Amino acid sequence: MTLNGTYIMELDNTWKRRDNKYNMEPVIYCAKCLSLDIRDIEGKDYCEKCGSTETKTTDIFTWMKLYRERYGRDFTFSEEDMEINN
Ligand SMILES: [Zn+2]
Repeated sequence: MTLNGTYIMELDNTWKRRDNKYNMEPVIYCAKCLSLDIRDIEGKDYCEKCGSTETKTTDIFTWMKLYRERYGRDFTFSEEDMEINN
């Protein structure tokens, strides 16, 4: 873990305020666009955003770090921010 303690606490508090069930739960995300909007289609993971079937699993903090590196900003939890167009 390379994140510093303050950053982790801030993320942790954000998640707890929003929805406890996400806290440190493994997440499945799209390997191409990092979307968490993954659907199970006939036993295969399918990205609702870009149609990729290539998914990965990690913890939420690693995913948020990847998201920040990709999009240059932190993930927020509004529906609009789930609509990412590449
Ligand atoms: Zn995708």
